[in-house]
Amino acid sequence: MADDLDYCSFCGKSQLMVRKLVAGPDVFICDRCVKVCIGALAKDLDDFASIDFVAKEGGRKGFDLKSRSDGPSSKDDELLRFNCKSPSELKAILDEYVIGQDHAKKVLSVAVYNHYKRLLTSGIISGDDTRKITIPEELKDVELEKSNVLLIGPTGCGKTLLARILAKILDVPFAIADATTLTEAGYVGEDVENIILRLIQNADYNVKKAECGIVYVDEIDKISRKTENVSISRDVSGEGVQQALLKILEGTICNVPPKGGRKHPEQEYIQIDTSNILFICGGAFIGLDKIVSERVGKKILGFGAGKTGRDDDKSDEAILKKVRSEDLVHYGLIPEFIGRLPVISVLDELSQDDLIHVMLDIKNAMVKQYEKLFAMDGVKLTVDGDAVVSIAKEACKLKTGARGLRSILESFMVNIMYSLPSRDNVKAVNITSDVVEKMAEPKFVLK
Ligand code: ADP
Repeated sequence: MADDLDYCSFCGKSQLMVRKLVAGPDVFICDRCVKVCIGALAKDLDDFASIDFVAKEGGRKGFDLKSRSDGPSSKDDELLRFNCKSPSELKAILDEYVIGQDHAKKVLSVAVYNHYKRLLTSGIISGDDTRKITIPEELKDVELEKSNVLLIGPTGCGKTLLARILAKILDVPFAIADATTLTEAGYVGEDVENIILRLIQNADYNVKKAECGIVYVDEIDKISRKTENVSISRDVSGEGVQQALLKILEGTICNVPPKGGRKHPEQEYIQIDTSNILFICGGAFIGLDKIVSERVGKKILGFGAGKTGRDDDKSDEAILKKVRSEDLVHYGLIPEFIGRLPVISVLDELSQDDLIHVMLDIKNAMVKQYEKLFAMDGVKLTVDGDAVVSIAKEACKLKTGARGLRSILESFMVNIMYSLPSRDNVKAVNITSDVVEKMAEPKFVLK
């Protein structure tokens, strides 16, 4: 990470992550924090244009953001402006927060960049001040289809983290949903439209902005068809949800109840077009490697075995990277649904070394977070190198990726953090490997 970047003194975001950074004497403020300040001031001061929710009249019912002092909106106001980052800029920011997963980072960066281009060509957003993307005259009529992304990877390898970081750095509204809570409309559980509602809420009820947003749907593998045979009972949390999601993935006018919950006939709805919303779906797909290796294995038997039998091809991960749509159908996703997720990236399981980097090296690294918590009590925390290795080894055994790290760290940190604030004679704490492996007392350095 380049250390000569400027950061917003209020939210801490770097200049790469915001549209504008206004400099003052030794301080900076970003455009978003300025917006928050205006909102806060508007509550108390009349001369600040306050923001109001106004129901649109005519054809489409919905909510739109209007400033009270605004006159009739000009053409330029109607086009949303976004600050577009190149794929390599996007990846560079993802690198600051996420260890490894190079392929997924590239795939996501390109998907997001193309998302901007599609919005530009469909006339939804206006050009960008910093990057000149032009639409060649002779290709004006070519429609760009959206490329929703499917992330396949074991639990705790960074799928949601990638989505969250994208949300932080992007200028478009973003929502995260969990597919396991969804059911087909009319059954107990959440309606698929609620995902879109979350996006609208994150866009401050600006429907037009939400229509350009990005949605991450986690645990997508959990809505696979329960059985390949036609069953008598409806599969309301499996195939039913896929069918409902399919519609919003491919693009539909969606009626969303403004307050969520179940739909009922007398209710007012926000209408939103989902054709330009980019969907990123993620799942662990446990057992998918067996389906892929069965298919690949059959091929090896069929077409000249031996050639493809290299050792590096045999690991579960290498096999999973050969995944094709047909394997996902076999897994229980319906073909139409997979067809709407044309970009697939398989993420790697984090190695012991990766887990060490997760603890020490990234922005917001776990050990750095504990250092900060301790420093706020005036205590210096140090963690020995072999203690870090022990934690990483332990986490590998748990098979929950980087998720295991937090629970292992908490298991011994909690006692220390409990007693430390009431002891005013401690100036430093040192965590040794014995603390991790044998639950021994850490070394306390007294004042
Ligand atoms: P999943 O792949 O199951 O969605 P998450 O992204 O939710 O996993 O990861 C859980 C936590 O583990 C994250 O909040 C983050 O702290 C850590 N983590 C996981 N993968 C990585 C990674 N590749 N780089 C850095 N931290 C990671």
